[in-house]
Amino acid sequence: MDVVFDELHRRVKSYLATVKNVAADGGNEAALVIARDELPLIVDAFDALFGGHIPDDNGHCRQCHRAGRWWRRRRVPCRVFLQAQIALFHPVGHGRHALTRAEL
Ligand SMILES: [Zn+2]
Repeated sequence: MDVVFDELHRRVKSYLATVKNVAADGGNEAALVIARDELPLIVDAFDALFGGHIPDDNGHCRQCHRAGRWWRRRRVPCRVFLQAQIALFHPVGHGRHALTRAEL
């Protein structure tokens, strides 16, 4: 793989692992710092990645539409949208999502 990509990928994976570990196993103060300082950044990053996967006038994903030939256009919900839904609301090994349990 590309050296620059490898380093960028490693940094993102390391950052996310740190956030996850502190949120799960850190003290209350550290978890609060994660929630207030890091979570908004993660939400913004998620939105930047996910936000463009909306339908065009023909029901095809605007983002996935750019990546493929016309005969391969993805209808919404596209794979990215579905993966995001699964990651947020049906995470593997986490049972039901915390916000779902709270019935918000
Ligand atoms: Zn898409």
